[in-house]
Amino acid sequence: MNNNFLAEAESADSTDKLKACREKFVIDDEQVVYLDGNSLGRLPLASKALAQKVVNEEWGKQLIGGWNNRWYSLSSSLGAKLSPLIGARPHEVIFADSTSVNLFKLAYAALQSLPSRKKIVIDAFNFPSDHYILQGVAQMLSAGHEITIIPSTDGVTIKDKDIENALDEDTALVCLSHVGYQTSFKYNMKAVTQMVHKVGAKIIWDLSHSAGAVPVDLNGCRADYAVGCSYKYLNGGPGATAYLYVREDLIPDSQTPVWGWFGDAKPFAFNLQYTPAEGIQRFLAGTPPVLSLSTVEPALDIILEAGIEQVYAKSKKQSEYFLKMLEHLHHQFPDLVIASPKDPEKRGSHITIQHPGAAGITQALIKPAHSNIAVVTDFRKPNFIRFGITPLYTSYQELYKAYGRLYEILVNKEYLNYPETIKGVT
Ligand SMILES: *Cc1c(COP(=O)(O)O)cnc(C)c1O
Repeated sequence: MNNNFLAEAESADSTDKLKACREKFVIDDEQVVYLDGNSLGRLPLASKALAQKVVNEEWGKQLIGGWNNRWYSLSSSLGAKLSPLIGARPHEVIFADSTSVNLFKLAYAALQSLPSRKKIVIDAFNFPSDHYILQGVAQMLSAGHEITIIPSTDGVTIKDKDIENALDEDTALVCLSHVGYQTSFKYNMKAVTQMVHKVGAKIIWDLSHSAGAVPVDLNGCRADYAVGCSYKYLNGGPGATAYLYVREDLIPDSQTPVWGWFGDAKPFAFNLQYTPAEGIQRFLAGTPPVLSLSTVEPALDIILEAGIEQVYAKSKKQSEYFLKMLEHLHHQFPDLVIASPKDPEKRGSHITIQHPGAAGITQALIKPAHSNIAVVTDFRKPNFIRFGITPLYTSYQELYKAYGRLYEILVNKEYLNYPETIKGVT
């Protein structure tokens, strides 16, 4: 243990410009260090209040009239609200369905736009659901698409060159997570998008670990398509509605595979022949889930008010601080290895470590036997532990507490007292 780290945390917290943001969230127990905002963000007080209002006032009293007041345009108005956080124009973004379903719709649209090309490129770091969706779309189209998976050569990053070498004139689609869920590796979106366009292919960026954590400039990179979820760094709530982006000039020729009435040009004309809506609304399918959409808005307001540049600056500073402590632990306990990129430009807002006892360590952090500090992190197979940094509510002293607990767990070998597998969701 090194107590200069504590003094550093106290000083950084006292001058932190985002300190007041923490008060905008429900903090049920100050003893719990929550470092899992990369899986499920905390509940904003304003979302709690709005959820009650939507149920009691809007659903309870307005009933069907609610559609004409606020609900009907919510998918689009929230898309417009999110757009500056991902560098898009307001009419290029819409909230709908889950990330997986949105990826399915956009992968279909992308492949349909380049029917003679048969190659799909993805990397080994992308989220399993993204792999499954592409496998499913390829199978559904029965057009001979083949999926190429780019491996990581160092276990932490993917080299731009390795993506470039996989691209050719037969490549239709590249689908990558901007920030990878395992090691937090972040691509250079502009460079990769340019190399994809050079061979005439399309790219879908998954922003699930980027939006709300790191600045994203879809327009500046001329990205074709993007998807993402709103329950991680955007703090929209469990299962909150996801979003999708289609670059303006691609919308008119982009076809969704799900022809539902909300994607029709005139849903309430009740025509029997489908005509796609002109705009991004064509990617809606059915009635939007108003309750889960509603909690997204106050959460977005907090980030917009704080400013994504400020959030990102604090994320980098907190990550550097946490990494410094992890390096310290690594020297004492060489089995603990940092599995995130060292270069802040190549990283998102979580830090991953590896240790042979990772499952036990995670459980000892979450449910300590002899400490009153619980640290909520998550375990990812085979031996990763992720620490999510959410600058809106994570303090430096919390990171110090996480380091302190890691030290105790390693020095006392507490992890040996826990089972080697973890049940349920982590
Ligand atoms: C969290 C996450 C998802 C989640 O997909 P859902 O369909 O919303 O459950 C998808 N992709 C990535 C990269 C993620 O990190």
